[in-house]
Amino acid sequence: MTEPLQQSDQLHTLKLLYVEDDPEIRRQLVVFLSRRVGKLLVAENGHQGLELFREESPDVVVTDIVMPIMDGLKMSEGIKLLNPDVPIIVTTAFNDQDFFLSAIEVGIDHYVLKPIHLDALLEAIRKAAKNVIQQREIESKNRELQLAAKVFDGSIEGILISTADNTIVSVNRAFSEITGYSAEEVLGQNPRLLNSGRQSQVFYRDMWDSLNKTGHWQGEIWNRRKNGEIFPQWLTISVLRDEAGEVNHYIALCTDISQRKFDEERIERLAYYDPLTDLPNRVLLQDRLARVLANAQRNHRAAAILMLDLDRFKNINESLGHGVGDAVLQAVAERLRTNVRDADTVARLGGDEYLVVLADIDDAQDVAVVAKKVLDSFAAPISVGDRELGVSLSIGISVYPNDGEDQQTLMKNADSAVYSAKQAGRNTYQFYTRDMNASTLEALMIENALRRALERHELRLYFQPQADMHTGEIIGAEALIRWQHPELGLLAPGAFIPIAEDSGLIIPIGEWVLEEACRHVKEWHDAGFNKLTVAVNMSAVQFRQDNLSSRISAIGRETGVDLGYVELELTESMIMHNAEQMIDTMRAMKTLNLKLSIDDFGTGYSSLSYLKRFPLDKLKIDRSFVNDISDNPADLAISKVIIDLAHNLNLKAIAEGVETEEQLRLLRNNGCDELQGFYFSRPVPAEGFMVMLHDGKRLEH
Ligand code: C2E
Ligand code: MG
Ligand code: MG
Repeated sequence: MTEPLQQSDQLHTLKLLYVEDDPEIRRQLVVFLSRRVGKLLVAENGHQGLELFREESPDVVVTDIVMPIMDGLKMSEGIKLLNPDVPIIVTTAFNDQDFFLSAIEVGIDHYVLKPIHLDALLEAIRKAAKNVIQQREIESKNRELQLAAKVFDGSIEGILISTADNTIVSVNRAFSEITGYSAEEVLGQNPRLLNSGRQSQVFYRDMWDSLNKTGHWQGEIWNRRKNGEIFPQWLTISVLRDEAGEVNHYIALCTDISQRKFDEERIERLAYYDPLTDLPNRVLLQDRLARVLANAQRNHRAAAILMLDLDRFKNINESLGHGVGDAVLQAVAERLRTNVRDADTVARLGGDEYLVVLADIDDAQDVAVVAKKVLDSFAAPISVGDRELGVSLSIGISVYPNDGEDQQTLMKNADSAVYSAKQAGRNTYQFYTRDMNASTLEALMIENALRRALERHELRLYFQPQADMHTGEIIGAEALIRWQHPELGLLAPGAFIPIAEDSGLIIPIGEWVLEEACRHVKEWHDAGFNKLTVAVNMSAVQFRQDNLSSRISAIGRETGVDLGYVELELTESMIMHNAEQMIDTMRAMKTLNLKLSIDDFGTGYSSLSYLKRFPLDKLKIDRSFVNDISDNPADLAISKVIIDLAHNLNLKAIAEGVETEEQLRLLRNNGCDELQGFYFSRPVPAEGFMVMLHDGKRLEH
């Protein structure tokens, strides 16, 4: 018996109708056929057979001839009417011509003689169904091909097939999309046309080695698109060999991974770099610093960290907006980057804080040089749009290993040093010293307590009378703040105003001072001393506030005071810094009718041409000149120059810190208009000042 179902045998695709009335033969053949054909339909007579044929339209019919109800020939006639092409095989014991003639007439051309020889039957089925089988084979091949084509073209991976001699014979749509080359443009070409030039000879040699040895290569490669752009792709190449083992084709699958690479890089940048300035962030900094310290330890070298904090950055942000603030932060980053060696790390810690790590230094002197260089690089203003902004930094330095052996300690100590640089007047650098921690802590405590000082009404306003040198009469007072600290007692402004300026608390505090001063001057006026003025000290931060004008006029309205009796004390450094902008602000103050004076005149730097343009009312000779005026001819000369300058500019001159009669005499002789100082009166609480007024206190000649 033949082996059922050889691999190439397509009998199993057939649907076969078998008609036989003899139960014994039928049983045997059903067993035999059902294992060899795809689907077997069985009928017991011609009538049933015809019905089944109608319902199932089988590919092939095997039928007995002599059967009750309807014989095989009759049934075959019926079948041929339904489908003239269907092959019919009869099994017959007849061996006479009549039968064959009528069979031919019906269209039957296959027969198997009974008793049935099974091999012969199979052979007959194969022969009879040859066309059907072939048709099935073609259909299934086509399906496979269509599927392959679908996979080929629908694949999101680019596919390139080349021959053994490296001629491209086929590419798919994805290949064209990725590379920009259409199929026509590359067919017949060598895949080399995609070379980016980025890979070395060695790279390609290794690739071919692997292909020859293992039949396979896989890896990342940079190729060039038609538009010239180079891009990374993931490439898999397989070698196809024929039966003899000769290379037939190469199949290359490629995926464009530029987006993935881009995403990976972007994620990495976000994780390690500050998006605003593109400087390393805290995370990357820690990593770099760890390496620098490890190296320093290994090589017994020093390293340093410079912590940098912009002076009064809050001001810029609040008065000019965050857009300008961001631009300043970027410009600062750029300046820092260009002022340190490539090997040094500049990082942004957040806000207006930066950090520079100096690796491998000889001594602290090296670090001082860098710090100075950085500070100097900020001498020129930063341009943002058409604005020129003066920016300065305070730098705190800690040195490994002296000031700390680990990151945390070094950072903490550099931070203390920054704080102390700020206290020292900004735009300067400070090395960490051991007693810094204590003072930093103190400053922090003061800051916290100061926050609550306002709500707890711990702030006081004292008034120091000012008198006319010639008439001797009190003309007004300077308002001076004090803090009645619950534990530390009455604090002078020097102990907390710098902290208030740093923390931004100066804004509410300054506002409180102004309001309080206005309230009092109104009181004096109401008491009949209606020509008295009050002088109020202004912080730079406060004076650059955006809404200063509207705040002051609101305070004027609320207290009912005539602002013509309120004088703002500015300092030279405050108005010379950004002089153009200051002129605008000062003009705005003048439209509110306020008086303006320059405090501590002579200690800062003034440009005469600007002095002429500022809408001022008064210059206040600094205490330091007054102090030595009797012993030091230079101080006397300076005081005289200031008085003359004031008069030439049509301003009044007032001397502060006058402690002795001698000082008073010299100043008066030189034409000074007004004075304040311990000689006449110390600063006193408001009630004390009121008493003085009622007593008619005056400067004696
Ligand atoms: P300033 O504006 O130059 O004020 C004059 C300072 O000299 C006051 O010190 C005053 O007590 C002191 N003084 C007055 N007469 C004499 C004298 O004859 N001899 C000596 N040795 N000193 C005299 P104070 O009150 O400690 O104020 C110090 C500084 O604090 C002020 O200098 C001012 O710049 C600032 N300040 C005071 N109050 C305020 C305020 O309300 N706001 C702001 N932003 N700053 C203030
Ligand atoms: Mg003052
Ligand atoms: Mg002063």
